[in-house]
Amino acid sequence: MAARLIVLGRQGAGKGTQCARLATRLGVSHLSTGDLFRAEIATGSPLGRQLDRYVSTGDLVPDDVVLDVVAANLGSAALRARGYLLDGFPRTLAQAQALFEVLGAGAADLALEIDVPVEVVGARLAARRICTACRSVAAARDGQLRCDACGGRLERRADDHDEAIARRLWLYDEQAGPLLVWLDSQGILVTVDGVGRPDAVHDRIYAAVAQRVPAIRAPVT
Ligand code: ADP
Ligand code: ZN
Repeated sequence: MAARLIVLGRQGAGKGTQCARLATRLGVSHLSTGDLFRAEIATGSPLGRQLDRYVSTGDLVPDDVVLDVVAANLGSAALRARGYLLDGFPRTLAQAQALFEVLGAGAADLALEIDVPVEVVGARLAARRICTACRSVAAARDGQLRCDACGGRLERRADDHDEAIARRLWLYDEQAGPLLVWLDSQGILVTVDGVGRPDAVHDRIYAAVAQRVPAIRAPVT
């Protein structure tokens, strides 16, 4: 049985980085609603223009639109059989209930919350830059314009401006409360301390997953 995981955490908690690493190590698909939305926005389609109105201001995309986009991806039986890691979804209680209603109790083995205090993530987001060429994430140093890894141009993500950051963090705390309580009531919530070096956080996360998802406990030979 392949692992099916939900990963939650405040903006700037390192969720994207940790999810990419964990998905590779587990051999499961990484589905990020934020990435799916940004890709759709980049095409300039009518759906993309609709999404952009929410994403650029830091508002949540309405649940029915989110569920359509997720269904288009999780609809694949092959993907479900291989296992997946959901990054940025579910973000509201209604989204979580819809997910479990459609896919049953097997929708997720585990929900991992990467916990980083709001004071820490606020500073990280203000300094966050994305490489336009290789998409890697960097922390801005004074006047730095180029990516260390590939020399590509660094830019701020469109929704990493002060008002949108404040709005996203506020919305996260408002929505995450009831969502975390509900995931806990399903017996699948595990909270991992997300403060520290990325390697250390990855080790903590992997240990939590290995302990809770029997399928990956066996060492690879
Ligand atoms: P962040 O968590 O840093 O805001 P994401 O890349 O996860 O970044 O999401 C970017 C934006 O996409 C969010 O601010 C929101 O507008 C939208 N979004 C992503 N996932 C969801 C979701 N599950 N429900 C509603 N809106 C979402
Ligand atoms: Zn780069």
